[in-house]
Amino acid sequence: MCPERKGKAVTGASGQSPNEQPIYLDFQATTPTDPHVVEAMLPYFTERFGNPHSRSHAIGGRAEEAVEQARARIAGVIGADPREIIFTSGATESNNLALKGVAHFYQDRKNHVVTCVTEHKCVLEAAGRLERDGFRVSYLGVRDDGLVDLDELADAITEDTVLVSIMAAHNEIGILQPIAEIGALCREHGVFFHTDAAQAVGKIPLDVAEMGIDLMSISGHKVYGPMGIGALYVRRRPRVRLAAQIDGGGQERGMRSGTLPTPLCIGLGQACALAAREMGSEAPRLRALRDRFLDRVRQRLPDVRTNGDMTRRLPGSLNLTFPGIDAEALMTALPGVAFSSGSACTSASLEPSYVLRALGVDEEAARASVRFGFGRTTTEEEVDRAVDQVVEGVERLRSGSRAWANASQIAG
Ligand SMILES: *Cc1c(COP(=O)(O)O)cnc(C)c1O
Repeated sequence: MCPERKGKAVTGASGQSPNEQPIYLDFQATTPTDPHVVEAMLPYFTERFGNPHSRSHAIGGRAEEAVEQARARIAGVIGADPREIIFTSGATESNNLALKGVAHFYQDRKNHVVTCVTEHKCVLEAAGRLERDGFRVSYLGVRDDGLVDLDELADAITEDTVLVSIMAAHNEIGILQPIAEIGALCREHGVFFHTDAAQAVGKIPLDVAEMGIDLMSISGHKVYGPMGIGALYVRRRPRVRLAAQIDGGGQERGMRSGTLPTPLCIGLGQACALAAREMGSEAPRLRALRDRFLDRVRQRLPDVRTNGDMTRRLPGSLNLTFPGIDAEALMTALPGVAFSSGSACTSASLEPSYVLRALGVDEEAARASVRFGFGRTTTEEEVDRAVDQVVEGVERLRSGSRAWANASQIAG
């Protein structure tokens, strides 16, 4: 656990003081950069500056050495070889590079990609672009627990299939897809397997060899590293080729040109090393906080419903439906708790979650659903305060709408 919680304001159980930060329960949207990570990055902005691609002098060489150490740390957390790690700007770019890069490289031989309707928007939009470029894409549905059906996946794979892309851990509902089984199936059919592991890296054990993963997307700011950096794991044996999406000086083995942002690379490396070290103790701690939150909410609001499988799940993630409540109204009513009704990217739109709809959740229930995420700085005391606020918020909204319903009945 992190000792840096002391920065947080301490208050009594009664709620928020005026200048206090909301209780942060939105760790799927982003995580704070761990202070140890910031500390490791800082020298590389100033006295340890240098272009890691400048091989002609020691200042560049020193930066290169640090970047290569970071690459090894990232590889270490997923059981990869450092040469298989390509730095990118984040999981969005990694997902785009994986889908478009593989599809375009092999397009003379194969032109079909399989993915899933509940993937992150950046995977779905990259797949949509491929369709517009003449590729064929199959979108698997999911069962009502949020998991893909392996028989359906096997049926979707054809001789033309080049790539299957299924995320490891879901940003919105927290479920864990059966990655090892999907990897084995893809291997059996001679198809590359890409997984968007932005939410999974550093949270659950991952091993690219054991799980048969050929490409994996990683995001810095989901693993207590900085924003603006990510990585794509690209298997070397058997080798996965991809067409670069950014051309230039040929950095990152020609797969992703551009000067590497040394401080950000160091930050992602440090974040992965920290996560690897703490995962064993942090996962059960988060699971306990998550279960405490759910148990306490359920005691007071017995009609609360969970979304997505409850056993195959990220330790720190919950998605709940409060029947009769509007999620937007609940968030507005609770400025003291930072949580979300879905993914950060789609919460600006007023559409109910496409993810929950794919699980068979009806539109009204989807609008009554919110996601809670627990993370490295979350304390038991915060969980208890958040429960109080959420329960009171739901009760307030319900009594308000009952009063309104009664009044309109009388008026009618
Ligand atoms: C956050 C997230 C992304 C996007 O990652 P960025 O690094 O912000 O581009 C992609 N997929 C999933 C599952 C995510 O949670």
